[in-house]
Formats: sequence, C-alpha cells, structure tokens
Amino acid sequence: MTASSFQFLKLPFGEIALNFLNQQNQHPKRTLILSDIFQSGLTQDVLYRQVADMIKAKKVDKFIGVGEAIMSHQQYFDIAQKYFYQDTSSLIQQLSTLNFDHETILIKGSRSFEFERISQALTLKAHETVMEISLNALLNNLNYYKSKLKPGVKVMAMVKAFSYGSGTFEVANMLQYNKVDYLTVAYIDEGVALRLAGINLPVMVLNPEVSAFDMLVEYKLEPEIFSFNLLDEFVKYSQLRNLSNYPVHLKIDTGMRRLGFEDFEIETLCDMLEENRYIKVQSVFSHLAASDAKEHDDFTKSQITSFEKAYKNIEDALGYKVIKHIVNTSGIIRWPRAHYNMVRLGIGLYGIDAATPASSNALQPIATLKTSVSQVKKVVKNDTIGYNRNGSLQKDGKIATVRIGYADGYLRAFGNGVGTMMIKGNLVPTVGNISMDMCTLDVSNIDVKEGDEVIVFNEEQRIEELARQIGTIPYEILTNISQRVKRVYFYE
Ligand SMILES: *Cc1c(COP(=O)(O)O)cnc(C)c1O
Repeated sequence: MTASSFQFLKLPFGEIALNFLNQQNQHPKRTLILSDIFQSGLTQDVLYRQVADMIKAKKVDKFIGVGEAIMSHQQYFDIAQKYFYQDTSSLIQQLSTLNFDHETILIKGSRSFEFERISQALTLKAHETVMEISLNALLNNLNYYKSKLKPGVKVMAMVKAFSYGSGTFEVANMLQYNKVDYLTVAYIDEGVALRLAGINLPVMVLNPEVSAFDMLVEYKLEPEIFSFNLLDEFVKYSQLRNLSNYPVHLKIDTGMRRLGFEDFEIETLCDMLEENRYIKVQSVFSHLAASDAKEHDDFTKSQITSFEKAYKNIEDALGYKVIKHIVNTSGIIRWPRAHYNMVRLGIGLYGIDAATPASSNALQPIATLKTSVSQVKKVVKNDTIGYNRNGSLQKDGKIATVRIGYADGYLRAFGNGVGTMMIKGNLVPTVGNISMDMCTLDVSNIDVKEGDEVIVFNEEQRIEELARQIGTIPYEILTNISQRVKRVYFYE
C-alpha cells in the first residue's frame, strides 16, 4: 500500500540542504536539480569541482545540472545518473523522459532560472489528481503546539492511517528531524513501514495484533496494552522469546468506552505488574472523549480525575515513574493542566483544530488537493447529467468534467450541488452524481477550458468546509483521500 509520491526540497543550496537530502530515506532515490551558481567568489573551475565533490560525498543518485556554466564542467560530476541542460525550458521539454517517481528531489536554482516552473510542470504531468503537502506548514503547526507546552513536556505525534492521509514517510521523517519524542500508529504493519523507511524514533502501536508480535518485536515497536487478555498474551510471548523489560504502554479507559483497563480493574492490574520482569511500563495513558467541547467539560474533568487516580496506583505498584499522557490536539489547547509529561498531537499537525479558530492563523493547512478539467461541454436545460440522470441545469449552460471521483475519496455525498470546487478563484457546484473516477461541475458562469486546474481543497476552500458540506468531520475527509492520488511534498 505505497502511494506514488515524490518530494521537492527547496532549501538554500549547501552542506545543510545536502545533509537533509541525505537523511531522507523514504524514497529509494535522491535527486538534485541545480542551476549555475552566481557570485560564489570562486573561479568556475574551483566552484564546480567543489560542488561535484560535495554531491558525491552526500550520495546523490541522480544529478541534473541546468545552465551553460555547469554544463561545461560536467566532467567533474562523478555520478552514475547525470543529465545537463542549457536552460530551464530545455529541461522542462525533456521532463517526461526523466521518469520521476518515488524520489526526493532537491531543487536549487538561481532566481533567473525560474525553477518554480519545474515543480509546476512536474506536479501537472505527474498525475492529474495530486495532493500537495507543505512540510513547512507541518513544521509551523508542530512549533505552534510546542509553544503551548512547559519545558520538558514530550510530544507524541500521531501518524496513524498514513499520517491522516498525508503520507507516512515524509511526515515521519520531518517529525524525526525536528525531534518529536514518540510516533504512534494504529497497527503493527504501519509501524514496520516506518522502520523500513529509516525511522528510529520510539513507536507506539495502538492496536497490536497478537498474530504479529514477531514483527512488533523484530522492529522494536511498543505495544499499547489495553486488556488483561492482551497483557497475558504479551507476557506469555515475552517468556517464550526470553524478552525482559520490553517497553509497553498501558491504556486506561476513563470514559471513552473503547479500549483500556477500567477503574475496577486497576487493582488487579497493579498486582500483575508487581515484579513482572518481562515488561517495562513506559507510559500510562487515557483518551479524552470530548476535549474540544465546552458542554462536556465536566465529563472531561471526571476523566482527568480518574486518570490521575489510576496512574498513581500504577506507579506505586511499579515502584518507578512512567510517562503520563491524556490530551489530544484540542486538549493541548484547552486542558493545559492535563499535559503531565507528554501530549499526543494528531489533527493539529495537519492544520486543523476545533479549539484553534482558523481566523487566528496560528495553524496552516498542510494539504492542497487539486485535479483538472478533462472536458467542457455545452448542455441545454433538458439534458440530464451523469448516472441515474440525477443532474440538470436550471437553464442552458456549461459543465466541466473533472478527474476526481469517489474512488479518490471525493465521496458521493458531494454530488448534486452539495459540494463545491474552485476554478480560477470561482466556487462552482457539482452537478449530478459523483462517479467513481470523475465528476461534473456547473461552470455556466465562468470561463473554463480543458486542462484547467481545479482545487478541491486548499487554504481558502478549507477541509473544514468540505466536512461541513457533507455532515462529517475533517478527519474523515483527510483519511479518505485514496492511495492512488499522488502525493507531492514541498519543503523550502
Ligand atoms: C488519534 C488519536 C489521537 C489524536 O487525536 P487528535 O484529535 O487528532 O489530536 C490521540 N490519542 C489517541 C489514542 C488517538 O487514537
């Protein structure tokens, strides 16, 4: 289940950017596109010799040089895959022959080379429906929540479900580079995927399957233990494998009523934990059911109170201190007294938080979903549009068929005027049913042609608004975007 993706880095060229490129393990290939360098103070000969040595040392797999100066020094570049072009336009003409996919591409061009044209051309060509992820926005959001924490409070970042649809590897890599303390996934295979992409942060698994304990241990993943049954299974497994002090996380059910030890079970749990040398309790945690909702604040307080009671008993039984955590994104903002020594940051990382008004501009949406127009048609009032003949226009007009459907995650519920998309700044409604791979928009009042870009969501037409249109929550919109939609990452 790997999405087709690539990543653009646009960092100031030099040692730092190359180091960053070098530690991106999520794609098999690392590519550098570099233009002529001006005003270095060195002679061209010395300059390009130095650049070539540095690139070789940082293990760049594919090098693309653009400009006459760099081209005339190509003999210095000792890299198996290298390409040189006189100018940006020549490169863009040849773009499709370069077959970019599953690679991290560092782009650095002097201003006059207008390298933004390369990323534009690549994202257009790559696939007709693309989700662009800004790693800068992700970083902004991470830092916003970090600024709400007392010194020493750890951050656990939730990267379950393909990082809420945003892509596991790039996001996890960015989080690792920026020193979050923990990552959390839902299932063991998601954790294995992180390890294979070179992530070495501690990883908690929310719902570990007994049948995959071998993988869990082999890849040093840390299970959430939420029931006596699971505790038994894991201790038995640890005995069998001769493990000792294996890090685990205990989940307490303080009111969510999904997973976790309940109040009346804590005493027995404590008995079982005493002198258990097979496991080491790394953390004790619980989950708030309505951290963002003022009308449930009394309930949240009762959750906090019973959590505090539970972890004190557990720490007493263990005889050592553990990490304690209960708040999610909205809880970070609304329940500072319950930060303890770790918080679990989920949707806020991705730029959405019910407790942080969009108007404050503190958060930046990290994702833009865009597609394009495949055909524009004139239709008359009597025409019916799409399956079941459900759509029609009030009067003669125009429709645009665009390349996104419910198989991409644009749900059928958006059909028949419920959903809107943006073309050249104009909001236009859907018309008729959403199909599997495409849908139709009423573009009667605007100027549109084939190939035009269509925004499904971005920082203006926000995910929150789409969620409102179909009566769901932003989490569901984000995680529905299917794996076939190409992800393209930007970091500048
Ligand atoms: C998903 C999840 C979170 C994150 O919640 P957000 O509202 O996205 O911040 C926190 N804790 C647990 C146990 C979760 O499953």
